[in-house]
Amino acid sequence: MCTPTFPSGPRLRPALDGIPTYRPGRPAAAGAAAYKLSSNENPYPPLPGVMEQAVTAAGTFNRYPDMACTALMAELADHFGVPVGHIATGTGSVGVAQQLLQATAGPGDEVIYAWRSFEAYPIITQISGATSVQVPLTENEEHDLDAMADAITERTRLIFVCNPNNPTGVAIRRPELVRFLDRVPPEVLVVLDEAYREFVDDEEVPDGLGLYRAYPNVCVLRTFSKAYGLAGLRIGFAVAQEPVAAALRKTAVPFGVSQVAQDAAVASLRSEPALLERVGALVAERERVWKELTARGWVVPPSQGNFVWLRLGPASVEFAQACEAAGVTVRPFPGEGVRVTIGEPEANDLFLGVAGAPELGGPSARG
Ligand code: PMP
Repeated sequence: MCTPTFPSGPRLRPALDGIPTYRPGRPAAAGAAAYKLSSNENPYPPLPGVMEQAVTAAGTFNRYPDMACTALMAELADHFGVPVGHIATGTGSVGVAQQLLQATAGPGDEVIYAWRSFEAYPIITQISGATSVQVPLTENEEHDLDAMADAITERTRLIFVCNPNNPTGVAIRRPELVRFLDRVPPEVLVVLDEAYREFVDDEEVPDGLGLYRAYPNVCVLRTFSKAYGLAGLRIGFAVAQEPVAAALRKTAVPFGVSQVAQDAAVASLRSEPALLERVGALVAERERVWKELTARGWVVPPSQGNFVWLRLGPASVEFAQACEAAGVTVRPFPGEGVRVTIGEPEANDLFLGVAGAPELGGPSARG
């Protein structure tokens, strides 16, 4: 009898070799004045009524959640004025993004996205077996949409457009995006990742939902993690035409979205005035931080997200360490830059204190 041999254990897909590990933002350092500005989270507690709904739902977690997310889907459809059949929910928008890849791409296929952008794109693309086609941002940290359109081939299945872009914060305006969409063949899915949509205050930046109505190959990704402050509950959703939304429901992990998350999301959608108030406060802080840095001579791309980006190059890690020593944890991208989430005013002030020190990446050291 022939005994099977496993020289080094079970065989794993070679496609997984070399996948970069997702690096979460570091937690706040220990200490009285310690703030986490490393994961683009919302510094505020849950919106009014949300905690109560979540606690009530927690009392039922001996049961599986509503797999169809019925109440949430109805609420989303009502809130955004889209048919229920065009919505799909998932375990965070990154979960939905992974499902989109499962639904569209595999070995031999290509996935285009700007780089640097959201760090999950290369990971989930590689897991799918498809090939990443990374198109460098322009010198102004913008998507190079002409180059992205030029990169489309017969093998292209999906294009991520992160608007505004994480980690640079720069948003694409309507004419550029429309010109790009006009160049994308209808069989290629364009995923408009609008994780930070609620923080956009530039009226020239289009709402992806308008584009999904105009272009059947556009899928809009949104999340409850950022403006709504439900990052820890893992819930996001997509809006797309029926066949894409149906494919997302097929690729969903059964019962992936907990009842706590579903009910908290419904309650969050019903807290619109409080949401707008908080978003307004964060946007005002973003502008204050941006103006202060710019006045000191920093070159900071205009951000439409809840974060700012400093292209510090080789000084990035050292700058992040100096921030941590001052009580704020920020997100370095070694050799490239540092992303700093807009948090409570006192946290932002601690960061500004570090950014003011020229020897630690202030005006004289900026890249
Ligand atoms: N898209 C972008 C651009 C992001 O920055 C993030 C979170 N960092 C996500 C999607 C995923 O967020 P979540 O899975 O929490 O919805």
